[in-house]
Amino acid sequence: MRTHYAGQVDDKLDGKTVKLAGWVHETRDLGGILFILLRDRTGISQLTIKKKETPELAENAKHFVKETAIMCEGKVTKNKQAPKGVEIHPTNITMAGKVYKKVPLDVTDKVPAEIDTRLDARFIDLRRAKPSAIMRVRATAQSAFREKLMELGCQEINPPTIVSTATEGGADLFHVQYFEKDAFLAQSPQLYKQLALVGGMDRVFMITTIFRAEKHNTTTHLNEVTQMDAEISFTDDEGAMDVLEKTFLHILEVVSKERKEDLKLLESEVKPLKKIKRFTYDHVLEKLKGEYDVEWGHDFPKEAEQKMPSLLGEEAFFITKWPTQVRAFYSMPFEDEPKKCRAFDLMYKGLEISSGAQRIHDPELLVKALKTRGLNPEDFESYVDAFRYGAPPHAGWSIGSERLTMQLTGQKNIRECALFPRDRHRLLP
Ligand code: ATP
Ligand code: MG
Repeated sequence: MRTHYAGQVDDKLDGKTVKLAGWVHETRDLGGILFILLRDRTGISQLTIKKKETPELAENAKHFVKETAIMCEGKVTKNKQAPKGVEIHPTNITMAGKVYKKVPLDVTDKVPAEIDTRLDARFIDLRRAKPSAIMRVRATAQSAFREKLMELGCQEINPPTIVSTATEGGADLFHVQYFEKDAFLAQSPQLYKQLALVGGMDRVFMITTIFRAEKHNTTTHLNEVTQMDAEISFTDDEGAMDVLEKTFLHILEVVSKERKEDLKLLESEVKPLKKIKRFTYDHVLEKLKGEYDVEWGHDFPKEAEQKMPSLLGEEAFFITKWPTQVRAFYSMPFEDEPKKCRAFDLMYKGLEISSGAQRIHDPELLVKALKTRGLNPEDFESYVDAFRYGAPPHAGWSIGSERLTMQLTGQKNIRECALFPRDRHRLLP
């Protein structure tokens, strides 16, 4: 129903007839002239209706209240006073979707709305410039992720999200009734990506939904999350970090290049980087001393994470060689120092955006790791059993798409980075 997007209409099209489709962003009646700003996802075009020349069109256009969906055919005409130096003289405008009710928020941003009001009407909120820019950054980051991993020879898989057991051994699971059986929503694709490698797929990646029934309500956690995962055979933690580094650097490069305008609108800066330094957990702990003391063997709280970039002098970096006790049971301990394991986190602008590790592929070592943590190996029997048929050594990681988008776009609240966020209280829309 359109020949062009609003963002494509410029003075090179002077004299040409175009068809646009979108929403009434604003109207202005100057007596003899009526302006309609038509907005689509790419931008805004000014439709100029001269009442004397096209009285019927002007009469008709009176009914187009803000946010009406319209289609328009008209001639592109140069006008120095118009935004972008061109306007459209319509020969025809039709109402495509009528506004039946009061629009719950101001899409032009002249009257700002609270986040809850916006999320209650998220499908209208997404018409606003900033949310749509955030969603574009997110999409670009995900496609850069996919692009790089395919280039690195990884195969895309789609793991199940209804599972019968916990993979992390945690209590943060949503229960579902699966016909006669009890089941859960997956809290990570962990088991299945590992099984894909046991199945000989060698190196895999996935963009998949996971569910965490964490009751806390923070600005960095959601209960439904999109994870961007990779798992690679015959490699260790360093090898997995190499792949994550390449992938992350590619994401930064592509986002900074392709989403320049969006980042400008969001007042966020994404600098392409050349290298991601690797600091040990012990080193980071030491650097934090005095600023934010963390006891050895504990995870870094979010406040500590925020202090790291200035203390370490890096915007993005890995934290390596974690205390075994804070990481998932399947993280591979160092042979010569089993108190530490081959796990890592990727930090970006003061927030954990990814976790990974070399996994334990030896079933006996897995049973031992479960016992050390006070977990019952019988509860994990099907997981452990998968490694009894010639399992390859392997390592992998997971990036949270919303967390990554948050840091790329400079958002303070993770809810801004999910299409329809699910948090402790929100299940609608
Ligand atoms: P955190 O300690 O920050 O709560 P986590 O260590 O429990 O996160 P992982 O199990 O390591 O999370 O998951 C891998 C990645 O998925 C995280 O680095 C993060 O980017 C993302 N992620 C995990 N849980 C959530 C959540 N509840 N909401 C949003 N993103 C999440
Ligand atoms: Mg983590």
